[in-house]
Amino acid sequence: MLKLDGISDLKSPISDLKKQEDKIMHDGCAGSFENGQQVVDKVRMMGFAQQLMPMPLDIECHGCKETFTMEEFEGHCPKCDMVHGVTPCHAFDPNNIMAAGIGY
Ligand SMILES: [Zn+2]
Repeated sequence: MLKLDGISDLKSPISDLKKQEDKIMHDGCAGSFENGQQVVDKVRMMGFAQQLMPMPLDIECHGCKETFTMEEFEGHCPKCDMVHGVTPCHAFDPNNIMAAGIGY
């Protein structure tokens, strides 16, 4: 919940989903995820999937180990199409990026 203010400042269509978002936030953006699918689901739900990260991160694909630049909160490996996601709160550390699965 501490990071919620930062999210609210971003331009996104989430204001109408405020209640739903608050519920998810409790163990969502500020917490940890069990798997990458939860991360990607959340990023998509918040409308961040196609939004640019504060800074692009070079990451190693969790599937094929190819290094690629992740520029949006949802990133697809150009080689194997593994889908990776990271929440806006955690987008500064590539260690927080999780893989949801190929073609997820
Ligand atoms: Zn890959």
